[in-house]
Amino acid sequence: MKIRQGFVSNSSASSFCVYGADIDLNKAMKALLGRDKEVTITPGCEHEFDREASKFCAECGSPAWNEEEEEWYIENLETEAEKVDLYTYQIHGCEDYEDGTVILGARLHGLGGKRATKKNPGMIAGIEETLEKLFGEDVEVDFHNGTCWG
Ligand SMILES: [Zn+2]
Repeated sequence: MKIRQGFVSNSSASSFCVYGADIDLNKAMKALLGRDKEVTITPGCEHEFDREASKFCAECGSPAWNEEEEEWYIENLETEAEKVDLYTYQIHGCEDYEDGTVILGARLHGLGGKRATKKNPGMIAGIEETLEKLFGEDVEVDFHNGTCWG
Protein backbone atom coordinates (compact mmCIF):
# COMPACT_ATOMS: atom_id res chain seq x y z
CA MET A 1 0.00 0.00 0.00
CA LYS A 2 1.25 3.44 -0.87
CA ILE A 3 0.38 6.40 1.25
CA ARG A 4 0.26 9.82 -0.29
CA GLN A 5 0.46 12.63 2.14
CA GLY A 6 -0.43 16.19 1.30
CA PHE A 7 1.78 19.09 2.11
CA VAL A 8 1.72 20.01 5.79
CA SER A 9 2.57 23.59 6.58
CA ASN A 10 4.80 24.45 9.54
CA SER A 11 7.07 21.50 8.87
CA SER A 12 10.29 21.34 6.95
CA ALA A 13 10.85 19.24 3.89
CA SER A 14 13.82 17.01 3.30
CA SER A 15 14.50 14.92 0.26
CA PHE A 16 16.47 11.80 -0.39
CA CYS A 17 18.04 10.16 -3.42
CA VAL A 18 19.46 6.74 -2.67
CA TYR A 19 20.44 3.67 -4.64
CA GLY A 20 19.41 0.85 -2.35
CA ALA A 21 16.45 -0.90 -0.75
CA ASP A 22 13.32 0.12 1.12
CA ILE A 23 13.40 -2.09 4.23
CA ASP A 24 10.99 -2.58 7.13
CA LEU A 25 12.46 -0.98 10.25
CA ASN A 26 12.18 -4.17 12.35
CA LYS A 27 13.82 -6.21 9.63
CA ALA A 28 16.64 -3.68 9.26
CA MET A 29 17.15 -3.65 13.02
CA LYS A 30 17.37 -7.45 13.14
CA ALA A 31 19.79 -7.64 10.24
CA LEU A 32 22.07 -4.82 11.36
CA LEU A 33 21.84 -4.88 15.15
CA GLY A 34 21.24 -8.61 15.41
CA ARG A 35 18.15 -8.17 17.47
CA ASP A 36 14.68 -6.71 17.74
CA LYS A 37 13.54 -4.15 20.27
CA GLU A 38 14.42 -5.14 23.82
CA VAL A 39 11.76 -5.53 26.48
CA THR A 40 12.70 -4.85 30.10
CA ILE A 41 10.66 -6.71 32.72
CA THR A 42 10.33 -5.32 36.24
CA PRO A 43 8.00 -6.17 39.16
CA GLY A 44 4.65 -4.36 38.84
CA CYS A 45 4.55 -3.21 42.48
CA GLU A 46 6.48 -3.48 45.74
CA HIS A 47 4.26 -6.09 47.42
CA GLU A 48 5.61 -9.57 48.07
CA PHE A 49 3.83 -12.44 46.30
CA ASP A 50 4.51 -15.33 43.97
CA ARG A 51 4.85 -13.50 40.68
CA GLU A 52 5.11 -16.74 38.71
CA ALA A 53 1.81 -18.08 40.12
CA SER A 54 -0.40 -14.96 39.94
CA LYS A 55 -0.69 -12.52 37.11
CA PHE A 56 -1.89 -9.72 39.38
CA CYS A 57 -1.11 -8.51 42.90
CA ALA A 58 -3.95 -9.39 45.30
CA GLU A 59 -3.24 -6.32 47.44
CA CYS A 60 -3.18 -3.52 44.87
CA GLY A 61 -4.24 -5.15 41.61
CA SER A 62 -1.03 -4.24 39.74
CA PRO A 63 0.17 -6.68 37.12
CA ALA A 64 2.86 -9.05 38.42
CA TRP A 65 5.34 -7.73 35.86
CA ASN A 66 5.69 -4.53 33.90
CA GLU A 67 7.00 -4.89 30.39
CA GLU A 68 8.75 -1.86 29.00
CA GLU A 69 9.78 -1.66 25.40
CA GLU A 70 13.01 0.18 24.81
CA GLU A 71 12.87 3.34 22.80
CA TRP A 72 13.61 3.09 19.17
CA TYR A 73 17.05 4.43 18.47
CA ILE A 74 17.50 5.09 14.79
CA GLU A 75 21.02 6.32 15.60
CA ASN A 76 22.10 2.77 16.50
CA LEU A 77 20.88 1.58 13.15
CA GLU A 78 22.67 4.41 11.35
CA THR A 79 25.93 3.62 13.13
CA GLU A 80 25.78 -0.07 12.24
CA ALA A 81 24.79 0.68 8.64
CA GLU A 82 27.74 3.05 8.27
CA LYS A 83 30.10 0.23 9.25
CA VAL A 84 29.06 -1.66 6.11
CA ASP A 85 29.02 1.55 4.04
CA LEU A 86 25.26 1.93 3.91
CA TYR A 87 23.54 5.26 4.22
CA THR A 88 20.26 5.24 6.22
CA TYR A 89 17.25 7.38 5.48
CA GLN A 90 14.31 6.96 7.85
CA ILE A 91 10.95 7.26 6.15
CA HIS A 92 8.64 9.57 8.01
CA GLY A 93 5.81 11.42 6.32
CA CYS A 94 7.15 10.80 2.84
CA GLU A 95 5.24 10.86 -0.40
CA ASP A 96 5.08 7.41 -2.03
CA TYR A 97 6.82 5.67 0.88
CA GLU A 98 5.36 4.07 3.98
CA ASP A 99 6.29 5.10 7.50
CA GLY A 100 8.09 2.41 9.49
CA THR A 101 10.66 1.67 6.82
CA VAL A 102 14.20 2.82 6.11
CA ILE A 103 16.02 3.27 2.83
CA LEU A 104 19.45 1.66 3.02
CA GLY A 105 22.02 2.15 0.32
CA ALA A 106 24.33 4.64 -1.33
CA ARG A 107 23.44 8.30 -0.92
CA LEU A 108 23.31 10.01 -4.27
CA HIS A 109 21.75 13.26 -3.14
CA GLY A 110 23.99 16.13 -4.15
CA LEU A 111 26.25 13.80 -6.09
CA GLY A 112 24.38 14.00 -9.36
CA GLY A 113 21.76 11.33 -8.68
CA LYS A 114 21.75 8.41 -11.11
CA ARG A 115 24.70 9.89 -13.00
CA ALA A 116 26.84 9.36 -9.93
CA THR A 117 26.39 5.59 -10.24
CA LYS A 118 27.56 5.66 -13.87
CA LYS A 119 30.78 7.31 -12.75
CA ASN A 120 31.22 4.58 -10.19
CA PRO A 121 29.86 1.20 -11.38
CA GLY A 122 31.67 -0.56 -8.55
CA MET A 123 29.39 1.21 -6.10
CA ILE A 124 26.26 -0.42 -7.61
CA ALA A 125 27.76 -3.90 -7.31
CA GLY A 126 29.00 -3.21 -3.79
CA ILE A 127 25.62 -1.97 -2.56
CA GLU A 128 23.80 -4.93 -4.11
CA GLU A 129 26.22 -7.37 -2.54
CA THR A 130 25.95 -5.81 0.92
CA LEU A 131 22.14 -5.68 0.80
CA GLU A 132 21.87 -9.27 -0.44
CA LYS A 133 24.14 -10.41 2.36
CA LEU A 134 21.92 -8.67 4.91
CA PHE A 135 18.45 -9.30 3.53
CA GLY A 136 18.75 -12.23 1.12
CA GLU A 137 18.87 -12.49 -2.64
CA ASP A 138 15.25 -11.39 -3.05
CA VAL A 139 15.98 -7.89 -1.79
CA GLU A 140 14.84 -5.26 -4.29
CA VAL A 141 17.63 -2.82 -5.03
CA ASP A 142 16.71 0.25 -7.02
CA PHE A 143 16.82 4.03 -7.15
CA HIS A 144 14.75 5.66 -4.46
CA ASN A 145 13.97 9.29 -4.20
CA GLY A 146 11.32 11.40 -2.59
CA THR A 147 10.48 14.24 -0.29
CA CYS A 148 9.43 13.94 3.33
CA TRP A 149 7.88 16.40 5.74
CA GLY A 150 8.52 16.03 9.38
ZN1 LIG B 1 0.87 -4.78 44.87
